[in-house]
Amino acid sequence: ATMPPLLSAVANAGRHGVLVKSAVAMEQLGAVDVVALDKTGTLTEGTPEVVSVLPAPGSGLDETGLLALAAVAEYASEHPLARAIVAAAGERGVRLVPAEKFAARPGVGVEAVVEGAVVTVGRPPAPGTAPEGGVDGDGGVDGVDGEGGATTVLVTRDGVPVGTLVLTDRLRPEAPAAVAALTALTTAPPVLLTGDQPGAAARVAEATGVTDVRAGLLPEEKVTAVKGLGTRVLFVGDGVNDAPALAVAHAGIAMGRAGADLALETADAVLVRDDLTAVPAAIRLSRTARRLVR
Ligand code: ADP
Ligand code: MG
Repeated sequence: ATMPPLLSAVANAGRHGVLVKSAVAMEQLGAVDVVALDKTGTLTEGTPEVVSVLPAPGSGLDETGLLALAAVAEYASEHPLARAIVAAAGERGVRLVPAEKFAARPGVGVEAVVEGAVVTVGRPPAPGTAPEGGVDGDGGVDGVDGEGGATTVLVTRDGVPVGTLVLTDRLRPEAPAAVAALTALTTAPPVLLTGDQPGAAARVAEATGVTDVRAGLLPEEKVTAVKGLGTRVLFVGDGVNDAPALAVAHAGIAMGRAGADLALETADAVLVRDDLTAVPAAIRLSRTARRLVR
């Protein structure tokens, strides 16, 4: 006897590096009209690097002092930006101690108590809402976000901005080819959903051929965006702040290496090698199998 088409598609997908969880999940992957993609860790490698350390004038901090303060606050965070900040501090020989108190704010940043002061590291406030002498939203550091498409994070101490850190993340090399293939396979062009700033989002979108970009989204706004696409959506993400969006989409694929545990549980399929070209491959396998089933 031959294997049922959906099960042999599951086996085939495995050869392409997609671990599909069930025959039902296999069927679902092809029954989608639009693909929504996360940015950090999905279209990019998710291993950003700190490229500039900019203490605010009057903060009393030098570069190493600012980096150390941010790294102590980020110490307990699993976010890729946090890992980059901690690594950069380590490279400068900073000896790190965990903060006295720590709280993660998904899609926003972290808040911690460091030497008795409340320290935040995270997304700058939206343009126009910056406090006097603060650093405003998209970029803040003139020219940096616009030109390089870098991510800027703001560091505050007891509510006062004390500096910014600029980070960049590499594109996955196969991302443009994957986006082109997905565009051909779906009725609406792929959509980029990200919590990052518009400048960083636009750079990644342009480099990968994504034309529909929604930036500055909180995790629950990614959910609203997925629902608002109004069709059957395949969401591809790493689960760092996008597990709710993965859960609400018609079908979900999680990055296997860069992915958070929650994403692996929620998704219908996992990209075991984090190779994005496996996403269109899985859609094609699903559709071929569905034709054979009927
Ligand atoms: P993405 O949608 O690109 O995966 P996230 O939702 O994880 O991005 O984060 C959105 C934004 O929130 C980041 O660009 C950053 O400004 C801020 N942010 C989130 N977590 C952290 C953190 N641990 N440290 C600094 N900034 C953070
Ligand atoms: Mg992410």
